[in-house]
Amino acid sequence: MPNDVETFTFNGLELPLDKFKDYLADRVEIDTDTGCWIWKGYLTTKGYASIYTHVPTPIGTRKKRFLLHRIAYAIAYKKDPLGLCVCHHCDNRSCVNPNHLFLGTVGDNNRDAFKKGRNKPVGVYPKKGMAHPKARYNEDQIRQMRRLHKAGVTVKELQVQFGGSRGGIHAIVTYVNWKHVMDEVGGTGLEPVTIGV
Ligand SMILES: [Zn+2]
Repeated sequence: MPNDVETFTFNGLELPLDKFKDYLADRVEIDTDTGCWIWKGYLTTKGYASIYTHVPTPIGTRKKRFLLHRIAYAIAYKKDPLGLCVCHHCDNRSCVNPNHLFLGTVGDNNRDAFKKGRNKPVGVYPKKGMAHPKARYNEDQIRQMRRLHKAGVTVKELQVQFGGSRGGIHAIVTYVNWKHVMDEVGGTGLEPVTIGV
């Protein structure tokens, strides 16, 4: 489903846009000097604004944290940042004002931080799935394994077919690993429910 006024896609999830707009309005404090929208809710240990949603998996739901500045960017620019960094012009990590956000590579973000005199690398996101240099499987294979497993094929049999370790395959079919790869189902199949700080 393309982005429209009701929903937008983030990390492969359809999220209700109006809910997020209201959500932001009530929970940011606007710094009149800088124009920063300072998030009043939960901050990650690195200082980024963060929220969680309960996202469905085929075997229940799980709690998933999102970095709110990435969501704010996605809402404002109707563009999923995917593997790219959403960087702060204002250097204020808890800021979720889309006008202060720009899309960059991890390198851009580090260079930006360096220019601003910060030494520690920031915004380094772990590589997921196929982007990981040691990825053994592709996303189609992940879906296929889960499908087969649900149809009764054992982990041991999957190991024969797909290779790799039994532990690794078990982590795939139980959605511990490759969580970002969702099953292909009719419609979106993904109804975000509770949103919390
Ligand atoms: Zn800002």
